[in-house]
Amino acid sequence: MYMQNPVFIPGPTNMPEILRKAADMPTLDHRSPLFGEILRPALAGVKKVLKTEAASVYVFPSTGTGGWETAITNTLSPGDRVLAARYGMFSQRWIDMCQRHGLKVDIIEAAWGGGAPADRYEEILAGDTAHEIKAVLVTHNETATGVKSDIAAVRRAIDAARHPALLFVDGVSSIASMDFRMDEWSVDIAVTGSQKGFMLPAGLAITAFSPKALAAVETARLPRTFFDIRDMARSYANNAYPYTPAVGLLNGLKLSTELLLAEGLENVFARHRRIASGIRAAVRAWGLELCARSEDLYSDTVSAIRTPDGFDATSIVAHAAKTYDVAFGVGLGEVAGKVFRIGHLGSLTDVMALSGIATAEMVMVDLGLNIRLGSGVAAAQDYYRDGRASKIQAAA
Ligand SMILES: *Cc1c(COP(=O)(O)O)cnc(C)c1O
Repeated sequence: MYMQNPVFIPGPTNMPEILRKAADMPTLDHRSPLFGEILRPALAGVKKVLKTEAASVYVFPSTGTGGWETAITNTLSPGDRVLAARYGMFSQRWIDMCQRHGLKVDIIEAAWGGGAPADRYEEILAGDTAHEIKAVLVTHNETATGVKSDIAAVRRAIDAARHPALLFVDGVSSIASMDFRMDEWSVDIAVTGSQKGFMLPAGLAITAFSPKALAAVETARLPRTFFDIRDMARSYANNAYPYTPAVGLLNGLKLSTELLLAEGLENVFARHRRIASGIRAAVRAWGLELCARSEDLYSDTVSAIRTPDGFDATSIVAHAAKTYDVAFGVGLGEVAGKVFRIGHLGSLTDVMALSGIATAEMVMVDLGLNIRLGSGVAAAQDYYRDGRASKIQAAA
């Protein structure tokens, strides 16, 4: 295939040519000093993207899911209690992983379309006077529902309850696309992967541990070998890995962080917000609604769009792939068949977003939904022009 449309799935995301080339390297001896010249800047770049000075970064050949496992197995012991809210497929999968590792999960059931309920976290933590709960899990951006949660609010809840639990954050679909402040929010472990905001192929689990999380590693008794950060830390001291590193991907990660920092993190976040706002304008013009229940919850990386009752939202994704060679995301779990998702993170421009909106319109008209061709495109064009036109006027 030599002609390809952009994808509109919330990961893996579109890859800039320059990053693909950076990840495609000739074989390099990972025990040579050359490797350190890739590893060091990659780790330092990730720290900047996470807005942390205090944390230590560990990158494994894996995916975001392996990052979850790295977080829990390095810091917890069999039978430990952890607190997590379930409000989508990804928060659910992390809970499931904890249970399979023999952890006791206190689950806060929350609405799919709502965010992490900080008040419920506080209530439960305040009630745990024996401090049995060792960790609090939060999914920053629930990719299944297009909902962003307020991590600062969860931190305030933990502090208000005067609870010593660690704070673990799944930032797989937020980090490098939406603001993430590891130090300011006192996040103890942050988890992401290479194939979303970092615009690389899948293959890296990217984790960061606060000093407090590192202290917990010493007493944690869950079995771990491949994901043991102590082995990783010892090897990093010699610019090496405990096993064969994914050198090409790490080289891609080094360049990815350079690109993000050169664009400016705040500009990267503003670009995601602008593109997402245009897509949301289109959704409004179609007369459809987002799964996310209120504006403060809107994700700038993925929109889950509800289709009318009785309509199978999955048919949109199937038809778009078959007829127009364009990928959108299906609804997962509780919202399967009820929503389709437009992923809008990573390497994306206003113009690319317009092509996705235009395609979604063709598909919905093909399938008989009551939508006028061009309505969403026009709404997004208005939104994107506004920002640009005022810039041009200011420059004149
Ligand atoms: C994609 C995603 C994951 C899973 O990551 P993999 O790299 O597929 O293992 C976990 N959490 C969230 C929020 C995600 O979007």
